[in-house]
Amino acid sequence: MTHDTLAVHAGRDPARHAGTVNMPVYRASTICFPDMASLEHARANPDTEISYAIYGTPNVRALQEAVAAMEGGHRALAVPSGLAAISAAILAFAGPGDHILVADTVYGPTRRFCDVAARRLGIETSYYDPMADDIAAMVRPATRLIYAESPGSFTFEIQDIPALAAVAHRTGIPLLLDNSWGTPVHFASFAHGVDVSIHAATKYIAGHSDVMLGILVANERFYPALREHATLHGLCASPDDCYLALRGFRTIVPRLRQQSASALRIAQWLRGHPAVEEVLYPALPGAPGHDLWRRDFTGAASLFSVVLHTRSEAAVRAMVDHMGLFAIGASWGGYESLIFPGYPGPVRTVRPWQRGQVLRLHVGLEDPDELMADLDAGLRRLLACRD
Ligand SMILES: *Cc1c(COP(=O)(O)O)cnc(C)c1O
Repeated sequence: MTHDTLAVHAGRDPARHAGTVNMPVYRASTICFPDMASLEHARANPDTEISYAIYGTPNVRALQEAVAAMEGGHRALAVPSGLAAISAAILAFAGPGDHILVADTVYGPTRRFCDVAARRLGIETSYYDPMADDIAAMVRPATRLIYAESPGSFTFEIQDIPALAAVAHRTGIPLLLDNSWGTPVHFASFAHGVDVSIHAATKYIAGHSDVMLGILVANERFYPALREHATLHGLCASPDDCYLALRGFRTIVPRLRQQSASALRIAQWLRGHPAVEEVLYPALPGAPGHDLWRRDFTGAASLFSVVLHTRSEAAVRAMVDHMGLFAIGASWGGYESLIFPGYPGPVRTVRPWQRGQVLRLHVGLEDPDELMADLDAGLRRLLACRD
C-alpha cells in the first residue's frame, strides 16, 4: 500500500468498534479477565494482548501499529512526549560507564539530557560532526549507540544515515535517529539502516498543536530492549492523546504535501530577498544537504531556517514582534504558521556557528501568497531598523 492509503487504513478495524470510523477512546487502568487462563495468556503475549493499561490500550496500540506500518518498522511504542522518547531510547541502551556518540546538531533538549541527566548516570557523550560520514575512529569499546538527527535542529544539516548505520553495525551497536522532520512519510528509517526511529509525535503526526506525545519505532532486533525499558520505568501514553494523534495522522500525507509545497515556494522567494544571507532548507535546489536529501528522502517537512545578514536584536524584534499570520511559538508540525528566532552559537561544540541571526519558519496551511506578504512586510521592518 502507498503512504496515502496506509495513512487512512493502518491500525483501523471498524468492525471491532461498532462500525465507527474512528475507534472510540478506551479509558482504562484495569482490564478484567473472565478466568485465570485469559490473564495468563495476556501476560505471556504483551505485544498483542493487554493485561494492564500501563502496557497499552486499544487507542495506543492502534496508533503504534499505524506509525510502525508507515515507517516500515517492526513495532512502535508511544510515550508521553518526544523528549521522553529520546531519553527512553538512550537509556534503553546505555548505562554507567558507557559512552554514546551524538550529532552536534541535535535538538537542544536532547543535548541537555546528555550533558546533565545522562552524565549524572555515568554516561559519557561525545558530539560528532553531522557532516562527517565516517565516525568509526570515534567509536570506543564502551560506545553503546550512535544518535543522529537529520536534518539538524535549526540549521538543517542532512546526515548520511546509511554511512552511519554501516559504522554502527560493524560494532553491533544500534543507530538511533530523531526522525521528527523526516516523518514516517518522507524518510524510510529502516530501509536506510536505522535501528530505532524517534518521533516527536507532538509535531506533524498529531498535527494540530494540541497534543504532547512521543513515538519510538524499532526493528525486531532492538525493539525488546525498548519494551523492557518502558515496562521497567512505567512509561505509557494516554488513550485520549493517542486518539487525537491518530486522528491527525489520518491526514498527515495531504497536510505535508500542501505545507511543503508552500514552504518550497516561500523558501525560493526568500533566497532572493536582500535581508537574507542564506536559506537552510534541504528541499531547496542548491541548498546545503540538497543532494543527500534527494537521495534518501521522498519529501520534505515545511520547517526551515533563514540566516539573516543582521545580528541586530532590535531589527529582529521589529520584524518578529509585529507579524500578522506567523505566530511566535516553539514546536511545529501543526496546521498553522510559526516563526521562531534562534542563535545556535552556544549549543554547538564541533561546528561553531558564527553567522547571522537565524529565523526558523514553520509554514502552515494558509495561502502561501498571504504568508509571503506577511514575511515581506516583516523583512521591510527589519531592513528599516537602523540600530
Ligand atoms: C520538538 C522536538 C522534539 C521533542 O518533542 P516534544 O514532544 O516537544 O517533547 C524532539 N526532537 C525534535 C527534532 C523536535 O523538534
